[in-house]
Amino acid sequence: VLQLYVPLNFLGTSYRMIKQSLTDLENMFDLLNEVPSVKDVPKPLEFHPQSGEIEFQDVKFKYNDEREVLKGISFKVPAGKQLAIVGPSGAGKTTINRLLFRFYDPTQGRILIDGIDISKVRQSDLRKYVGIVPQDTVLFNDTVRYNVQYGNFEAGDQEVNEAAQTAQILKKIEEFPMGWETKVGERGLRLSGGEKQRVAIARSVLKRPPVMIFDEATASLDTNTEREIQDNLRAAFKGRTTTVVLAHRLSTIVDSDEIIVVKDGLIVERGPHEDLLKLNGEYRLLWDKQSASSSVVKKEEKEQVVI
Ligand code: ATP
Repeated sequence: VLQLYVPLNFLGTSYRMIKQSLTDLENMFDLLNEVPSVKDVPKPLEFHPQSGEIEFQDVKFKYNDEREVLKGISFKVPAGKQLAIVGPSGAGKTTINRLLFRFYDPTQGRILIDGIDISKVRQSDLRKYVGIVPQDTVLFNDTVRYNVQYGNFEAGDQEVNEAAQTAQILKKIEEFPMGWETKVGERGLRLSGGEKQRVAIARSVLKRPPVMIFDEATASLDTNTEREIQDNLRAAFKGRTTTVVLAHRLSTIVDSDEIIVVKDGLIVERGPHEDLLKLNGEYRLLWDKQSASSSVVKKEEKEQVVI
């Protein structure tokens, strides 16, 4: 959960100072633009992607000189399709997402959106068109309405309601004593991790960027809710948004258009779910491991019911 925030630790005191006003990952990244790790080029390219095709061309990356973390990643996600990234811990999945959001630039290779090298565009432009739902969402100290509308302040009430419905949070909001005007965040009503993430999802649905990155929650949503949200999102974004999902639970990404299995900085397998299972390789191992552990959970649940 904390992986995406690791670099922030280095900011120490200033991070703690800004944490209060900082609220979601997009803003954190905006703020971090001031940290000179990634800079706009002197004459940035115009960037108005319409369809959101993503391409990684032999992307290599290292955080430091010790070790190459990505060793040549190439893939293409056609406009409106969904790519899922799976693989063991430390394989480089989060790093791929960080590069797509241009938190860092590749040390070699290129990342293109609609054919444009994202290292050549303004970061503020990039972030207008690339949405992210991180694992660990922090909300604004403001009303639920503001937190959702942040995705698009021009959206009307009906659109806002629909976005909340898609993210499976509308009912919850309507149950709050002050409904949409309820204050959330550190100084307001405390929402669970899963609820916060759903508010972030509603915001993204409203924003409807051509490219969306989902960093699947490991703990905050239960599998059923997550499944439902995934289904709704797919419907809401279908054909309009190119999606990259960093998946921890394989059950939620079985119908992705393509799945890449990343191991030790390389793509070791790729294809749709059924094909990958047939390979009897890394994906199969991950799948069997998860099926085994979920049956253990089921057994435990059963025992609890008996008690
Ligand atoms: P997980 O499933 O556990 O989240 P992951 O596949 O997302 O893992 P990454 O977070 O991309 O893996 O990490 C890939 C490698 O890069 C790991 O060895 C990790 O220790 C290293 N790494 C990640 N972030 C940094 C950083 N900010 N500085 C240095 N090394 C890092």
